[in-house]
Amino acid sequence: MININKTHGHGLSLTVKIFIGLVCGLIFGITLSYFGPSYLRDEIIINGVLKLAGGLFVRSIKMLVVPLVFISLVCGSCAIGDVKKLGRIGVKIMIYYTVTTALAVALALVIGVMINPGAGLDLSKLVKKEASFSEARPVIDTLLDIIPENPAGAMARGEMLQVIFFALLAGLAMALVGSNARTAADLFNQLNEIMMKMVSLVMLFAPYGVFALISKTFATAGIDAVIPIFKFVAGTIFAMLLHVLIIYGGMIRFIARLSFTKFIKKTVSVIEVAFSTSSSNATLPFTIDAAVNKIGISKSTAAFTLPLGATVNMDGTAIMQGVAAIFIAQVYMIDLGLSAYLKIILTAALASVGTAGVPGVGMITLSMVLQSVGLPLEGIALIIGVDRILDMFRTTVNVLGDIACTLVVAGSENEFDETVFNSPDGIVTESE
Ligand code: ASP
Repeated sequence: MININKTHGHGLSLTVKIFIGLVCGLIFGITLSYFGPSYLRDEIIINGVLKLAGGLFVRSIKMLVVPLVFISLVCGSCAIGDVKKLGRIGVKIMIYYTVTTALAVALALVIGVMINPGAGLDLSKLVKKEASFSEARPVIDTLLDIIPENPAGAMARGEMLQVIFFALLAGLAMALVGSNARTAADLFNQLNEIMMKMVSLVMLFAPYGVFALISKTFATAGIDAVIPIFKFVAGTIFAMLLHVLIIYGGMIRFIARLSFTKFIKKTVSVIEVAFSTSSSNATLPFTIDAAVNKIGISKSTAAFTLPLGATVNMDGTAIMQGVAAIFIAQVYMIDLGLSAYLKIILTAALASVGTAGVPGVGMITLSMVLQSVGLPLEGIALIIGVDRILDMFRTTVNVLGDIACTLVVAGSENEFDETVFNSPDGIVTESE
């Protein structure tokens, strides 16, 4: 049995520590905002210690963006390339995964535009205006720009769409070469593991980074920042809820013709684990167990589509990134044109492929979405403090999406046993 409340050796779990950092940062920052300007407050605390600690954390995250996106997308697209081997089920599941993710981002953008999470907070003075990039490039140029003339240059400049394109092609080619590229595929998988380890090392610093970033935000913006950040969190959770109810609910009710309430009842244990671990990967054994033994999906289908989903299908993450992009654009007073919205849908859907199922990675791949439409990465500082809360919700949505898509596909391919689904306890297994 996996210990889902794993602590990191000494007492409190990382999640609890991040929450403590968040709450203390909030209190400290708001308190600081009530003190008038002074050398101690402004130079030593806000622009000294807090800037340093917060900056170290944000820079370490930025440092990981390009290699992480590149390596994990090569691995992800190589895994998708392999889908051919599994024939119709593979193709169908990829269609469901891709379409649901694109719908998720579109829904997130609509909710974001409706609730205006960034209204009332103006941080535009804090970024250099000449670097305000996003606007109105013709769609044709945007499309042409996806292909890098020089992949190394694209990486060096952090041109994310170009890096993504090259990575997808490289992964696909690796899958097509097959066994002759085994060594390269192994190398990329190992590099991927190393990147994930780097993420978890950087995350060890998260409680302090979160404390510093949150207190700096609130010390400078005062209590005014509370409502926008709250709106961002609430809006994101609301969009996720709608996505689960409308998209997954609709798919299960109208395509698979099954009861959605029953589906949720059968996935309660998975929801609990996803919520508490914030990791699709750590949840995977529970996901497969529920899909096979409680829902009635065939083992062979579940064993292929669910690990694939935990790697490439992240609707919750895509939703967070959509709302975050709108929030950050509003806070920095940057108008997004139509091509920027399309780019957000495209990059967030791809970010979902490039986001590994471990805690916090969605926040790192968010920088790829922001960068692709020219939004300031400084915006991440604003929301990173509350990211752990959203990570719990989005991981849950990510995992539910994997099961819902798998169920619909399994149902259409005779890989599903409805008697298991209808029996109250499903099959009783050794693991229970
Ligand atoms: N924690 C998420 C997952 O494992 C990924 C993310 O950070 O968005 O599904």
